Amino acid sequence: MIPRFNAFGPCLKKKFGTVVYKVNVDAGFTCPNRDGTLGVTGCIYCNNDSFRPSECKTGIPIREQIRNGIKYLSMRYKAKKFLVYFQPYTNTYAPVGELERMYREALSVPSVLGLAIGTRPDCIDEEKIGLLSELAKDDFVLVEYGLQSIYDKSLQYILRGHDYRTFLEAVDLTKEKGIHIGAHIIAGLPTETRDEMLAMADELSTLPIGFLKIHQLQVVKNTPLAQQYLEKPFPTFGYDEYLDFLVDFIERLSPEIVLQRLFALSPDDILIAPQWGRTRQQILRDINERFNRREALQGSKCLCPRQ
Ligand code: SF4
Repeated sequence: MIPRFNAFGPCLKKKFGTVVYKVNVDAGFTCPNRDGTLGVTGCIYCNNDSFRPSECKTGIPIREQIRNGIKYLSMRYKAKKFLVYFQPYTNTYAPVGELERMYREALSVPSVLGLAIGTRPDCIDEEKIGLLSELAKDDFVLVEYGLQSIYDKSLQYILRGHDYRTFLEAVDLTKEKGIHIGAHIIAGLPTETRDEMLAMADELSTLPIGFLKIHQLQVVKNTPLAQQYLEKPFPTFGYDEYLDFLVDFIERLSPEIVLQRLFALSPDDILIAPQWGRTRQQILRDINERFNRREALQGSKCLCPRQ
């Protein structure tokens, strides 16, 4: 069966010749949108508990977190090769010397092939890019910039603390340095129409990004967004509606961009909306089924195909 979109797992398998698993670590970072530098409440949807796996506990040394993760994945999936994923909060938000110590510690663990580093586009500079570029000479290094939206009206609404231009500047600083560039966006912000959401695919296709995470907006407990939603509910993606949106979006996306994530799945005990009542496996199966039913292909409607 032909692959209908460019997915992360097969991409890594092709590159490394084996299945590669991600090991999450919590290196104890905070975020300028939480520590008072830009704000204290964070982005309005942000509840880090919704994306921090239980095996990640701040305070446990990075090497130990990685070894624990590897042990679990090896037992469960017979996994042999790994990327270390610096996930919660802003993982370049520290002096460069400290970052170097953490990243090298992660890369020193046998069977680790590289790093994926989640961060904000306003928390990178030439010195940090210099470090990542140096590491990328020997290892796979992917920097995932949280963008969320290309529209400043939306970035203002979610109290993101940076604008779209800042993201473009970060991408510009990162490109052509051997570092893989990823972006992370949210679909379904109440500030945007469906057409505006789809137009993000056109825009991102023109940029030198190689990886993309996209998921539906989720309203989770203990966030300013939850407060707004409970006071005045706004529409969120229905399940079927999101499947069709996703197919439409990916058809417009450059076929060269690898999709790392297609939906979000916050724990039931904190998720307020949308409640789809589906497991990860069911959602993945339904996405594939929708692509097949529509005979859709990533990039088939891309306005800006790359050379
Ligand atoms: S979403 Fe990311 S940038 Fe925003 S407050 Fe949470 S950790 Fe910080």
